[in-house]
Amino acid sequence: MARFIFITGGVVSSLGKGLASASLGALLQARGYKVRLRKLDPYLNVDPGTMNPNQHGEVFVTDDGAETDLDLGHYERFTGVNARRSDSVSTGQIYSTLIAKERRGDYLGGTVQVIPHVTDLIKEFILKDTDQEDFVLCEIGGTVGDIEGLPFLEAIRQLGYELGRERVMYIHLTLVPYIAAAKELKTKPTQHSVKELRAIGIQPDILLCRADREIPLSERRKIALFCNIREECVIQGLDVSSIYEVPQRYSEQGFDKQVLKIFGIEDKNVLNLSRWDEILKRVQHPKAEVTVAIVGKYTGIGDAYKSLTEALDHAGIYNQARVHVRWIDAAGFEKEDVAKALRDVDAVLVPGGFGERGVNGKLAAITYARENKKPYLGICFGMQLAVIEYARNVLGIKDASSTEFGPYEDKNGIGPLVGLMTEWMRGNVLETRRHDGDLGGTMRLGAYECELIAGTLAAKIYDADAISERHRHRYEVNMHYRDQFEPSGMIFSGISPGGNLPEIVEMKDHPWFVGVQFHPELKSRPFSPHPLFSSFVAAAIRNSKQEKNKAA
Ligand code: GLN
Repeated sequence: MARFIFITGGVVSSLGKGLASASLGALLQARGYKVRLRKLDPYLNVDPGTMNPNQHGEVFVTDDGAETDLDLGHYERFTGVNARRSDSVSTGQIYSTLIAKERRGDYLGGTVQVIPHVTDLIKEFILKDTDQEDFVLCEIGGTVGDIEGLPFLEAIRQLGYELGRERVMYIHLTLVPYIAAAKELKTKPTQHSVKELRAIGIQPDILLCRADREIPLSERRKIALFCNIREECVIQGLDVSSIYEVPQRYSEQGFDKQVLKIFGIEDKNVLNLSRWDEILKRVQHPKAEVTVAIVGKYTGIGDAYKSLTEALDHAGIYNQARVHVRWIDAAGFEKEDVAKALRDVDAVLVPGGFGERGVNGKLAAITYARENKKPYLGICFGMQLAVIEYARNVLGIKDASSTEFGPYEDKNGIGPLVGLMTEWMRGNVLETRRHDGDLGGTMRLGAYECELIAGTLAAKIYDADAISERHRHRYEVNMHYRDQFEPSGMIFSGISPGGNLPEIVEMKDHPWFVGVQFHPELKSRPFSPHPLFSSFVAAAIRNSKQEKNKAA
């Protein structure tokens, strides 16, 4: 029977609750247990699909097509376990289920209330499909004290009561700030946060205290005493240089050991952290350094492209290189700026994106990479724009565009270069999309198969003839243009089964120029870096060596 570990946060947000949860998952896994991680988000959006990445960070997409919180990406990267739609829930989702039930008459005329109806649905979500797991780790988004988080806290309190303490435990993550004027670390916010939790009826078993410096034993003892927690269960979370150090740092302080002890599990398995050791060794001793320019729209906050920067790091780990990112805001990036901004980078990447703003800057960056033979990786929007750039500037199709930017006058009868497709196959099933559907429901989402054309760079990189990758987009490149592209050197090297959707394009006379309609970054893990990123970073390293030779 699965045991449940609930992770809550206090004092401030952004303390790394997701990473702490993912790290504990990895540690339990390193002891031989089967784990699953879940995220409960108190916001009212049904999912993050329609939320602005500048506010909420990236939208992580699962194989089964759910648009979820970026923490699910951490979970996958740290444990290698593929997340499912059922691993992410929000208040919005709970309420839309509840209201649909109420309309159907499922509540038989009863008054529908937060307790027990909302809390029951939350508990149902937590418990669903967990029979096969040893541990289910559930992270509650937000911080203790938020009004919208209350039903979730009440639901996890009830589960502690119903399943018993042998199957439920609580971990609370707080901040212990350093006050410069007093030259002291302060424990009061932690005490208050735990008090708040206890008022709801939850006594945490373990406290993770984030701090920017070592918390003296005397202060840890004080926290333990005031918060009613055993001293060895007050664990500090100090800042680290790489996120892949986090599992080890926690384990050194006995985090995983205490978890087992609280559950009364006598652990006979050995903790095997060898794969983490290997990663850290590589991260800490790079043999080369490269700079990749990311030309996108949400360059202000790192979280908007979380999986992307992680995938580049993984490729760095694979190639034993440090990958630096130069963020370039595509909006306001003009043709004249391009050479100056990109001359000294080793590779250019245009990531996924939506809408017309910044398109000209991205197109200019693609022209520069194509003409100057800089390795180029175009992801989703970055592929669509690479095709448009090529059509306009090489094939002379001046009006080549995407209907995402406005209506298209179909003079030649084959449709726009990038446009909406209303039907496609997923395995043997025909899926359809309506143009007038909800914003949140019109995309091609989740894992789709793609066939690779033998002899192409794509087939060589993947060393396979068929792959599966995750998608999140509305528009598609139009297959009818293939005959115009291929003779001049841009090859459609990956095609959907059935042959009607181009999934990968590549350029023949270029050291490394690849565009993919899917999001490879979502499947990259530190232990199994994504082959496209590994190959891209290897090309960047070759470029950097050539440049150095030229200069010498
Ligand atoms: N805006 C494009 C589309 O909807 C690309 C989306 C993306 O890059 N994820 O097809």
